[in-house]
Amino acid sequence: MSTKKFLLEEKDIPTAWYNIVADMKNKPMPMLNPQTKQPMKEEDLYPLFSKAAAHQEMNTTDTWIEIPEEVRDLYKVWRPTPLVRAYGLEKALDTPAHIYFKNESVSPIGSHKLNSAIAQAYYCKQEGVTNITTETGAGQWGAALSYAAKAFGLELAVYMVKVSYHQKPYRRSIMQTFGAQVIASPSMSTKAGRKILTDTPNYQGSLGTAISEAVELAMQTPNCKYTLGSVMNHVMLHQTVIGLEAEKQMEMAGEYPDVVIGCFGGGSNFSGITFPFLRHKLNEGKEIRIVAAEPASCPKLTRGQFQYDFGDEAGYTPLIPMFTLGHNFAPANIHAGGLRYHGAGSIVSQLLKENLMSAVDIQQLETFKAATLFAQAEGIIPAPESSHAIAAAIREAEQAKIEGKPRTILFNLSGHGLIDMAAYDMYISGDLRNYEVTDEEVARNISELEKII
Ligand SMILES: *Cc1c(COP(=O)(O)O)cnc(C)c1O
Repeated sequence: MSTKKFLLEEKDIPTAWYNIVADMKNKPMPMLNPQTKQPMKEEDLYPLFSKAAAHQEMNTTDTWIEIPEEVRDLYKVWRPTPLVRAYGLEKALDTPAHIYFKNESVSPIGSHKLNSAIAQAYYCKQEGVTNITTETGAGQWGAALSYAAKAFGLELAVYMVKVSYHQKPYRRSIMQTFGAQVIASPSMSTKAGRKILTDTPNYQGSLGTAISEAVELAMQTPNCKYTLGSVMNHVMLHQTVIGLEAEKQMEMAGEYPDVVIGCFGGGSNFSGITFPFLRHKLNEGKEIRIVAAEPASCPKLTRGQFQYDFGDEAGYTPLIPMFTLGHNFAPANIHAGGLRYHGAGSIVSQLLKENLMSAVDIQQLETFKAATLFAQAEGIIPAPESSHAIAAAIREAEQAKIEGKPRTILFNLSGHGLIDMAAYDMYISGDLRNYEVTDEEVARNISELEKII
């Protein structure tokens, strides 16, 4: 075996994030004000987000945006992350493909989410904010933000999707250990939560609902801002440190990927690993395939519709031009909680519309089979979300074998699964199943959408 890990030094942590919008010929369509249906202005976002985040959200001109020194200093706790050649997996698959993964699971909270949490908490602190709110699905974003909030001395309230609150009690303990308040969503503490609980008493929650609750609390609390772990353009921006490092590390490995893969919830880790590579395609016409891997039970990219839709269930957020299944789509309780979101961010949606990237959907059992193979071959138990990227990478490697040709595959290992062992338990005992969304379900949800505009 030749080199296994490609390591950078602290000084190689990127000094600027990559803003792909500046390089896109056709910019994403603007977000719309939900009342007036007019394009949102930067100032319209100030009540919700920090001014810096609002500015980044709307920035279509600056290709590079400087990373504040304080943020880079905290990145040093775990960055740069390793790029790893998956020799074990290649061998297990008996494939001519070369498989690389960027290991974002080495962060203190075990996922890529910290890359944006630290930036968002920093900007809030800079602007004199004292309290922040957010939602969390599987608990990864909440865990990341809890640490980031503590690092900058902010109070944090987290609405955690109820199904995950019960399935993943240790993520709740992690957030509480970092000092955050955690509330199961839907809750009776907000108007949005009360309405949903009255309509559907046993509703196990969704990211959309939790976002509504967190936004409502932020709007009604003085000196309080809302933060979001995915979907928004500024979150995609912060995550580009992943791909920027990987770009250098692939150079160290003396290879260039034929395909770059990320699992897909709202698009943040996918954007993080792929945008810096996509820039070679946009600017130099480089041939590279960019693939998003989403769950078959929540197939917004492969089966959703491109349409203005709300980011949340209650309709508090701006209208976002997105591939969506409809904001009241209630996905099955798959264990990849972080991928149970109805829509894709506006940048990714625009890229998909223009076929600058593609998407595959993957069933739950295939992801756990891939995860188990990966764990046994590479010694890392992946997050159920990341396992979608692994399954897609395995499909690529198997295709290379069929064709008898080499292929260089890069995927993002967005997180580890050490707090998801209950899900692995169920897989091992044969209690996990696949969930297929029916065409009727998709059509019904999307037909409800048409009424928005
Ligand atoms: C949150 C999460 C995801 C999905 O969110 P994206 O914004 O689509 O990246 C994927 N993997 C892990 C480990 C996560 O925590």
